[in-house]
Amino acid sequence: MTEKLAWVSEEIQALKEAGLYNNIRTLDSPQGAWLDIEGQHVLNFSSNNYLGLANHPRLVEAAHKALDQFGVGPGAVRTIAGTMRLHTELDRRMARFKGVDSAITFQSGFTANLGVIPALVGKGDAIFSDELNHASIIDGSRLSGAKILRFKHADAEDLGRVLDEQRADFRRALVVTDGVFSMDGDIAPLDEIYQRSNRADAILMVDDAHGEGVLGKGGRGIVDQFGLHGKVDVEVGTFSKAFGVMGGVVAGNDKIVEWLHQRGRPFLFSSAMTVPDVAACLAAIDLLEESTELVDRLWANTELFKREMKSLGFDTGKSVTPITPVMLGEAKVAQQFSRELFEEGVFAMPLGFPTVPRGAARLRVMISAAHSSSDLEQGLQAFADVGRKLGVIS
Ligand code: PMP
Repeated sequence: MTEKLAWVSEEIQALKEAGLYNNIRTLDSPQGAWLDIEGQHVLNFSSNNYLGLANHPRLVEAAHKALDQFGVGPGAVRTIAGTMRLHTELDRRMARFKGVDSAITFQSGFTANLGVIPALVGKGDAIFSDELNHASIIDGSRLSGAKILRFKHADAEDLGRVLDEQRADFRRALVVTDGVFSMDGDIAPLDEIYQRSNRADAILMVDDAHGEGVLGKGGRGIVDQFGLHGKVDVEVGTFSKAFGVMGGVVAGNDKIVEWLHQRGRPFLFSSAMTVPDVAACLAAIDLLEESTELVDRLWANTELFKREMKSLGFDTGKSVTPITPVMLGEAKVAQQFSRELFEEGVFAMPLGFPTVPRGAARLRVMISAAHSSSDLEQGLQAFADVGRKLGVIS
């Protein structure tokens, strides 16, 4: 390595010493309740495959058909020659599913956030942002050049205070929050946030990545859950979690979507979603519109798992969603707990600083509709065994 890159090795070494180096596990199986990882068949508590759609036969079949009809690649960005019939159908179907005027799809939830925020605010404007918002909101906000003002996590009163103090100094204002927070599984108080935003004449945006397909009627998301249709200006979503595929979406009124066709930079300058992905997303919407069965099962599984974990004596924090943190305190305990679980055939990721605050290390269990009741029983038994062995529960 040349001298000018020596710092990379030093940084990597520092990550390793701090226990923060990402060791990436490789899967030899499709997503599902069980995974084959590095020669072991393990119960999967780590994926965002909330509804078990990532390997659902209807989605796989739809992708196959689209592959035969349209081939593999989109060949261009959406605004040049990359918009195929299925892309416009997905935009339209998502708008209908969400109960909004219009929707525009992006390559991922990450690029949706990078696209929409700089299209709405810039220099001279302000973004009022929950302090625990996702990295893609932070990056989109930085790209916009607007002033970023943070409010306390999930605290509408603090948002009101910051708006009262600062709003008047800026031309446009954007209030932005995650819907479901991915580390704790708690939910933004969107009704109260709407009241404050509306009073301050601010645009309101929610990133519903973990709420899409999970919250609201039949998985229609957090805006539906709070009954705030027509009041939240921008809903960002992803197809990579409950929908089981890949891609992002911005749903809202006609004007915003038309503007994003002109000014959403990843839409204009990065190639379109692949057509098999688009077709699989359409099949996911079909399934969700046909029945609430998968969403209902997800919640039944979630309630059972949380209830049993609490009765075993585990602390599952503030979660009110399928994201179930198991609070363990020190990062080393979380890492050891995760290793021991893996040996018992259960895969649950440990999270430590800086992903979560110091002393608040945890395992994050992601519940899915794909888990059977015997899967959950097996998982609970492994948690009970390892928890007792490590003295976390008695
Ligand atoms: N927003 C939030 C809140 C997320 O949790 C994620 C995924 N980690 C994203 C956006 C990005 O979504 P995608 O994986 O589709 O890029």
